[in-house]
Amino acid sequence: MNYDRILIRYGEISTKGRNRNKFVEKLKRSVMTVLRPFPKIRVEASRDRMYVILNGENGIEIIEKLKHIFGIQSFSPAIKVERNVEALKQSSLELVKSLYKEGQTFKVTPKRSDKTFELNTDGINHTVGGYLLQNIPGLRVDVRNPDINLRVEVRNEAIYLSCENILGAGGLPGGSSGKAMLMLSGGIDSPVAGYLAMKRGLAIEAVHFFSPPFTSERSKEKVVDLTKKLAGIYGSAIKLHIVPFTDVQQAIREQIPENYTMTTTRRMMLRITDEIRNKQEALAIITGESLGQVASQTLESMFTINEVTNTPILRPLITMDKTDIIKIAHEIDTLEISNRPFEDCCTIFVPASPKTKPRREKVQHYESFFNFNPLIEEAVQEVETLVIQPYDQHSEFDSLF
Ligand code: ATP
Ligand code: MG
Repeated sequence: MNYDRILIRYGEISTKGRNRNKFVEKLKRSVMTVLRPFPKIRVEASRDRMYVILNGENGIEIIEKLKHIFGIQSFSPAIKVERNVEALKQSSLELVKSLYKEGQTFKVTPKRSDKTFELNTDGINHTVGGYLLQNIPGLRVDVRNPDINLRVEVRNEAIYLSCENILGAGGLPGGSSGKAMLMLSGGIDSPVAGYLAMKRGLAIEAVHFFSPPFTSERSKEKVVDLTKKLAGIYGSAIKLHIVPFTDVQQAIREQIPENYTMTTTRRMMLRITDEIRNKQEALAIITGESLGQVASQTLESMFTINEVTNTPILRPLITMDKTDIIKIAHEIDTLEISNRPFEDCCTIFVPASPKTKPRREKVQHYESFFNFNPLIEEAVQEVETLVIQPYDQHSEFDSLF
């Protein structure tokens, strides 16, 4: 028997009170975006659930796509049945028959959100269960651990039958948490940080610091490819801001004692990112930092670097081990791109022994001898903004997950 729709359950959205409509609207938009390759489907959203009406489109392919949309807790292929007992019995029989394999067990799980239906839950249980037992030889009841669990949901407008409950990706719908700037290097960590932020409903714009001729076109290409992968997650374009950073870095090298260049470099990167954030009206900055991973990621370093802004800095990886980060990078298919050789602007002038415990007073003192503001302004003025489309949504979207 062919399912005619997929019932989507929202999960965490349902705890969002008055914001609920906005969340449902965002989720609907995500679903419609990802299901663009299926023009005949229709999406019906209400406050507590959503239906994808298949209209003959391939349900199996659609199920695969739905598994990766943030904001969906679970979903079930379902059949809509008229609200009458005969129709309920017939459709239940057809559905269970189509799934039944010899020797299997079943149970009926009725749910009535509309109490005016002529059968109560016990009545549904007996009527439907009895009818199935009569008509499918060998079928047995097992209420604890059935092979087939037929859910019968009686609602105002109709009855819905389903047997499978498929786990969704969780998280919050795309863009429902607002917008943040992702500091995207060519490394392993920052794309993973971007992915996790997107899972919590953040829309992102990427910022990349580029220092030609010390960093090559190839490193830029790498960041473009990583952004493409991230764009595939929501199935929509992401802005990538490329910041020309060479002049700032040269000035740092000339003005700052060697063991503090890394600290100042990070502070300048953060200041520039914050200016771009302000222009783009985002409310936070995301980085791929993980506590203690390298010299710039000790608590003392973060304290000193973070001084330059009070914008929230989100660090989704802060407590994660490298092995766990690599695992996610592999799952989201960014690992291979990140592993391509490249030069990062932060590694080219790396001092032999960067301070692992830089102090605010010291760095303020060193920076006070030179006015970095004009260079920062110039870098912001000369940002090149690319709009990166996702990898071909039709063929490559799947490989993302
Ligand atoms: P990643 O794997 O993300 O490069 P990492 O472990 O190499 O991280 P760092 O090089 O110390 O760590 O960078 C820390 C964070 O600073 C990165 O995760 C990223 O968010 C940001 N960052 C570093 N280099 C750049 C760059 N060239 N452009 C933009 N952001 C950067
Ligand atoms: Mg790096």
